[in-house]
Amino acid sequence: MVLDDTSHLRVDRKSRAKIPANDIPYRPVEERLNDFEEAFHLYDLETIKVEASRCIMCHAPQPCVEACPLHNNIPLGLWYMSQGEVVKGIGVFHQTSGFSEVCGRVCPQEHLCEGACVIGKLRAPVHIGMLEASAATYERKTVGYPLPPQANTTGQKVAVVGSGPAGLLVAERLAKLGHSVTVYEAWSHPGGLLVYGIPNFKLDKEIPGYKIRYLEEKLDVKFVCNTRICAEGNPTLDDLLEEYDAVFLGTGAEIDASMRVPGEDLPGVHHATEYLVRLNLSHEMLPPDMRQNIEVEGKRVVVIGGGDTAMDCLRTSLRMKAEEVTCVYRRSEVEMPAGIKDKHLAEEEGARFEFLTVPTKFIPGEDGRVAAMECIRMRLGEPDSSGRRRPIPIEGTEFAMDVDLVVLAIGYWPDPLFKNTEPWLESDKWGLIKVDPETGETSREGVYAGGDNVNGPDLVVTALAGARKSAEAMAAYLERKRDGD
Ligand code: SF4
Ligand code: SF4
Repeated sequence: MVLDDTSHLRVDRKSRAKIPANDIPYRPVEERLNDFEEAFHLYDLETIKVEASRCIMCHAPQPCVEACPLHNNIPLGLWYMSQGEVVKGIGVFHQTSGFSEVCGRVCPQEHLCEGACVIGKLRAPVHIGMLEASAATYERKTVGYPLPPQANTTGQKVAVVGSGPAGLLVAERLAKLGHSVTVYEAWSHPGGLLVYGIPNFKLDKEIPGYKIRYLEEKLDVKFVCNTRICAEGNPTLDDLLEEYDAVFLGTGAEIDASMRVPGEDLPGVHHATEYLVRLNLSHEMLPPDMRQNIEVEGKRVVVIGGGDTAMDCLRTSLRMKAEEVTCVYRRSEVEMPAGIKDKHLAEEEGARFEFLTVPTKFIPGEDGRVAAMECIRMRLGEPDSSGRRRPIPIEGTEFAMDVDLVVLAIGYWPDPLFKNTEPWLESDKWGLIKVDPETGETSREGVYAGGDNVNGPDLVVTALAGARKSAEAMAAYLERKRDGD
């Protein structure tokens, strides 16, 4: 039996607060740069027990739980782990998440659960992310993901569009309630961002792979790939609504933003998505037009942008043996949206950073490929709508930088297809689908949406939190429909 709360549990807080932290076991830089395997080892069972024992079990409302977008019951999970009951401990996280192996690896914990941990005021916070990842992977490799209690089949059908984290969460939750779920995916393999967006050195592809097999084999979820809903020759939203009782749109935000500067379309200038998938995935997982190799070895690579995707591009280039890898970002280090952990790892692996700098032009060499870029230095003005200080060009500071390869990692937009083809589905001028924030319900009855196609590019855990709300609202909607309301 799993307990619900921690209020009656007694621990010796003073002794627990003195237990030394267990560092994240990163692999040596020289070793991890030679492969695309995960850049860290997980905690072993004994270390899980000791690290979890550092939690002093704060009284509710615990700051770590408040700071976690999924509100995982962290102290209770960690209490079980500290007693050596690792599977029971991760079972507590499953109640609110189901994606612990992913979140434990990719959440920027320093801004979320660990950033709020009271132990962090004295020394290193409890390493909640590493505990969550280690315990969940231990569970998968020993006993497998837990099977849900057998639900009665409802006879109702649900379509999920997009098989990234939001889509998979909705598929799992509704399948567990006895609904028949079909997931449509535009790429040739399911997994969305988890497979096509996050490199293996951050998230082993076996993790989304196992989840998808679990959904197929244990929960009877069907996956239909190579199908881009609303694109020419593919089913429309109307087609789906004729066949299914409810539809969830979890299509993310995967269209790379452009810089709109001269030379952006030169050979040698790549968009981040294309760059990452071509270098991180095998050819059979890619459409034919993306199967040519990109020569990176010995090249001077410049990545434009300061988010997590930019860090992924830097670290991928270093693993591909680029001669020099530089991040060019228009604001200062303080405004960088990338997680501190990712930025630190990129730096440790050899990336250089040019802050307060923007390229204004990409210049071709004699062979027509990009050979240099013209840049200008920036200063910071007043905060803009994002709350970060606006970068302003400083006249007379133009300079040129020699480059062999440029990667644009400057942000993403949602797929404009729905906006362009579905007049009854309300979206804003950026193409973000408008929903009721409490339920994820769109302007079309029976159609729900959640994740990056609603909020714009954000964290995996934020997409999961939005999708969880939608799954709950969809379950209630389907029940009402069943009852004939
Ligand atoms: Fe922390 Fe993310 Fe796990 Fe929440 S989901 S406990 S924020 S690692
Ligand atoms: Fe434990 Fe830190 Fe959360 Fe307190 S804030 S309950 S010490 S993990």
